Amino acid sequence: MHNDPIKTQYPHAEFLVTLIAHMTSSEFKKEAYKIVDFMVNYIESIEEYPVKSQVKPKEILDQLPDDMPLSAEPMDEIMRDFREIIMPGITHWQHPNFYAYFQANVSPPSILAEMLTATLGVQGMKWETSPASTELEEKMMSWLARAIQLPDEWQGVIQSTASDSTLCAILTARERQSNFRINEQGFNTSQTYRVYCSTETHSSAEKAAKIAGIGKHNVVKVGTDHQLALSPEQLEEFIRQDLVAGHIPLCVMATLGTTSTLAMDSIEAIVNITSKHNIWLHIDAAYAGSALILPEYQELIAGIDRADSFVFNPHKWLFTNFDCSAYFVKDAEALKNTFAILPEYLKTSTDSVVNNHCDWGIPLGRRFRSLKLWFVLRYYGLNGLQEILRAHIEMARWLEQHIVDHVDFELMISRSMNLVCFRWHPSGIDAEEQLELFNQKLLNKINASGKLYLTHTRIDEKLTLRMSIGQLKVTLDHVRDSWHTIVNTCETIPYDEATASV
Ligand code: PLP
Repeated sequence: MHNDPIKTQYPHAEFLVTLIAHMTSSEFKKEAYKIVDFMVNYIESIEEYPVKSQVKPKEILDQLPDDMPLSAEPMDEIMRDFREIIMPGITHWQHPNFYAYFQANVSPPSILAEMLTATLGVQGMKWETSPASTELEEKMMSWLARAIQLPDEWQGVIQSTASDSTLCAILTARERQSNFRINEQGFNTSQTYRVYCSTETHSSAEKAAKIAGIGKHNVVKVGTDHQLALSPEQLEEFIRQDLVAGHIPLCVMATLGTTSTLAMDSIEAIVNITSKHNIWLHIDAAYAGSALILPEYQELIAGIDRADSFVFNPHKWLFTNFDCSAYFVKDAEALKNTFAILPEYLKTSTDSVVNNHCDWGIPLGRRFRSLKLWFVLRYYGLNGLQEILRAHIEMARWLEQHIVDHVDFELMISRSMNLVCFRWHPSGIDAEEQLELFNQKLLNKINASGKLYLTHTRIDEKLTLRMSIGQLKVTLDHVRDSWHTIVNTCETIPYDEATASV
């Protein structure tokens, strides 16, 4: 038998065939079932893990080889290392006692959709590269817009993060203001654009201003009221001063649900100012925006029809795997004119009749993210999602009451939705330095216990513990147990130890 001349001529192509054959369909199925078993077991036993990973810096890195393997490795070994090396370095964001930052929730329907997305491996940059990806995304954005009652003419698109959405907003504001000249010619140095936000606004606003060429110094930080919401009076005064100084007020970044305390800026008061001066109003509702599906919070967006853009993250409090940031704009043409670019290799015959989402933001390539949203919205339904969110808010109300009633704890600001901000404040001890040390010690001890995970902020410079109650599986029992852990942990910290260095 002689050699196949084609195979002899193209030995690498032949090698590729044998390499692919390493994972046959039946092997894939076997491995997939094993991973599904792992997933189910993980979800069932998640409460046995410490919420916050307890590894030390470089502990994971040092266990990984310096070079990639030369030859193929068996799945069993890869999975063994995943369990032994990677899992200890995981902070369990899906643990019901995860109260840190804001949740990045997943849910069973979302995970299942992600499995399909990974399998299809769709690149949905243009309508033609997967019509279903584009059209499902259009419909999902419209479902969400209707659920949170955005004005009818607003259109939405999925971005990776709220930071990306905010960057899109500032770039579109810049282009609309300059009549799309900066995109074409770059900056004319005599122009100074100004962006306004509160001292409580998320750092992504400043980052966006830096990237958009506005400059960090031109981000004007407006003061806040007693609830840490942006002061409209001060905003108007700063705008007035800037106009006198010859600056161009470009954009106001309002927040519904600040990161620190979930403070709500008054959209109605702000939009009265921005519309008077023809300034772009972007609303960052990254976390709290999900709660707009509850009619009782609808008043928060009164006046939004006069705003320009709005973002919230279903990947935070709407149980959809990261990444899924829902970005809505009043004027989709302005967004597309800012980002659209059409090299020959991307031209398609349908360009004039369809939406090509690569023109609606920064990246060209796009994952099929609407699928998980579709699964989640259908699986829970609007009523189901409303019930879960209301339950979280009630649990936060329970906790708030217990903090208020406890003589050794202080509520640092009124609860907003599902976020409670408090500190340990033993009666009779009022020195701020001491309270700072107490609370730092308490936070460290709680997080080292692995039972729950909290993070902190500062209110009036005072170290404050935040408890965001929004994990899909959290129950009143979890919150009650966590509260007892917090109280009991205080009792294990003698005052003299608490004041020793942290
Ligand atoms: N805006 C607010 C109010 C946030 O709380 C956060 C993060 O928690 C962000 C923006 C940034 O979100 P992302 O990670 O999606 O960029």
